[in-house]
Amino acid sequence: MQVVFIPQHLVVLFIMAVDSQVFKDPVVTFGVLTDVQYADHDDQIAAYDPSKTRFYRGSLGQVDDAFNYWEKPGSKVKFVLQLGDIIDGLNRFNGGSYTSLRRTLSHFEKHSSIPTFHTVGNHELYNFNRKELATLFYESVIKIDIPQEIFSPFKPLKDNRPISSPVLYYKFSPVPELKCISLDCFDISVLGYDSQHPNYIEASKVLYSKHGHEIFDDWDCDGPLTGLDVRFQQMNGAVSREQLAWLDQELKESDDLGQKVIVFGHVSLHPESSDWSCLLWNYDEVMKIFHLHKCVIAYFSGHTHKSGYALDSHGISYIAFSGILEAPPDTSAFATVSYYQDRLEVHGHGIERSYNIPLQGLRDVANDDNDATIDTEVEPPPPTTVKVEV
Ligand SMILES: [Zn+2]
Repeated sequence: MQVVFIPQHLVVLFIMAVDSQVFKDPVVTFGVLTDVQYADHDDQIAAYDPSKTRFYRGSLGQVDDAFNYWEKPGSKVKFVLQLGDIIDGLNRFNGGSYTSLRRTLSHFEKHSSIPTFHTVGNHELYNFNRKELATLFYESVIKIDIPQEIFSPFKPLKDNRPISSPVLYYKFSPVPELKCISLDCFDISVLGYDSQHPNYIEASKVLYSKHGHEIFDDWDCDGPLTGLDVRFQQMNGAVSREQLAWLDQELKESDDLGQKVIVFGHVSLHPESSDWSCLLWNYDEVMKIFHLHKCVIAYFSGHTHKSGYALDSHGISYIAFSGILEAPPDTSAFATVSYYQDRLEVHGHGIERSYNIPLQGLRDVANDDNDATIDTEVEPPPPTTVKVEV
């Protein structure tokens, strides 16, 4: 047998060449869009920002434009995350809730080769209770090319007790190296529940304690709230103890498997990623769970209708995405995300921002106290400009 001696420096070069190829190709690429808020309603100025117009009928064309981009020849997009508020609360006033949801979901169903994973928003719950919503989403997602066990959260409940409710959080792994977790940000809320449900009662106690009254409609404004307390509005909610325990277990499993995790939900977690009125009530508890583990790389949210970014002391990125509803007809608002072993590339289209986020080395700055402290000394990567034709 002939033994060939390979100099050490050539071994190093070979490893570098293999590594660079690994980092050159994304592990997986996917699309993100949010806040479609379709309604058969005339355009109108956004109440929270007079500089913005809400294009209620145009939002479905925006969804089509995004899929047309993702379906172009050569596209590597494997799936889409829809971050909530798929139809607008206006639908409930004209009896159009069902028609509008069906019309909107059909725009996702016709692109079944790129399956969409939905997360629940407050506007869906203005139109439907959680049982109705689970049934309607289940009827939609079984039409697309996804293993059906993934959508067990949406299966209609056979239990007809008034206080029973479906569990709307779930996970899936598009590739072995990555797990995606959808949070139910309205698990504890006054939306979508019968008023006798324990989660409604728990949420109403929180809102009463913060606002000092029990007037439902007046829970949807700042009222007496100041600072970070402005998040305690009925358009937001909290993640329950059960969901936190489930999240902790899922992250532990991913740690053990060496997987990375992207978590997504409708409402924001990091106060520097969005307006404080758009934060999860117990955002700090969710971040503490993230910090117990090594696997979480990012959290994606909608709801605020504005691009936002924050990096926490544990190297986790929090990205809030722009809403499709307010994208003018001559532009767009969606993102194409590529996860590489060493970075996350977010290519914003139209009014959406772009980011190039390194994933290695960031955890070196993490504190060991496992709290949800915001480290403002860690600079987030500046948005990058990526020109993309849609
Ligand atoms: Zn919302």
